[in-house]
Amino acid sequence: MLRLSARQCTLGGSLEFSGVGVHSAVPVNLRIDPAPADSGYQITRILKDGTRVGPVQIHFSRVTRTTLCTTLDLGNSTSVATVEHVVSALSGLGVDNAHITVDSEECPILDGSAGRYVAAIIDCGIDVQPATRKYLKVTRAVTVRNNDAFAALEPYNGRSLDLEIDFDNKVIGRQRMIFDWTPRRFAEDVAPARTFGFARDRQALQQAGYALGSSLENSILVQDEAILNPGELRYEDEFVRHKLLDAIGDLALGGMPIYGRFRSYKGGHGLNALVLSSLLASEANYEVVSAEDLPLAFDSLDDLPEGLNVKPYLRSVG
Ligand SMILES: [Zn+2]
Repeated sequence: MLRLSARQCTLGGSLEFSGVGVHSAVPVNLRIDPAPADSGYQITRILKDGTRVGPVQIHFSRVTRTTLCTTLDLGNSTSVATVEHVVSALSGLGVDNAHITVDSEECPILDGSAGRYVAAIIDCGIDVQPATRKYLKVTRAVTVRNNDAFAALEPYNGRSLDLEIDFDNKVIGRQRMIFDWTPRRFAEDVAPARTFGFARDRQALQQAGYALGSSLENSILVQDEAILNPGELRYEDEFVRHKLLDAIGDLALGGMPIYGRFRSYKGGHGLNALVLSSLLASEANYEVVSAEDLPLAFDSLDDLPEGLNVKPYLRSVG
């Protein structure tokens, strides 16, 4: 039987999104197209004059800034910011190969989560490709620290994230989530979690050119001990779930999915990028392993989000 988790996947069709950048407030169109096996995630930016920069590989070696979001350098003095949510959606659903095209400097924030990307991907379906999926298997633990914050990648028989945040704020406080990855759990428990910020930081951030596009429609805004958004949180611990969403996007910049455990305390984009580059800095820390050789738990159709169309797979298992 064909093991779904052992095959590379791409999208069953092309997807289009429009919105604004949460930091730049600039309108942007984003398109995701299927891509051939072994191409990974690539990105092209179309400049105002129609010039195309890219495609380039979405890879940690292109990360230039991790302040509040992850920014990639595409060359030719061109960058794209806030790539982490769309990449998280792809990686979280087990899409290995995709080509993203944007016509502005920042990916759209949409509703502040990866929910719309995930819903659109589920709608259009996934195509299983003939190529075997490969994983970066962690063989030696790597830890990076910043004061009491840390991020670590460790050998582990599976794909797990153990993430904890600790804010001096009663609404958020200390939240921890241990997440054993399946595409279905990602779609249900992680993708809808929205980004968040503090009302007290807003003015200083905006003076520094950040959060100019943020609103209650795309961010949870915390003021002292209250949430300013109308309506309920999507999860009681939505904050740690969004950090998990970010980490899944940031860790997908290694070129292939990671087989092992990620642990983090008070982490963020900077430590996520650093722990990934530290892992890949020495071949003693990892090996590239074929998925056929890994005992991945995720092999049942129940591990896939409800409604996801995976036609070649369904045909192959009859
Ligand atoms: Zn985020």
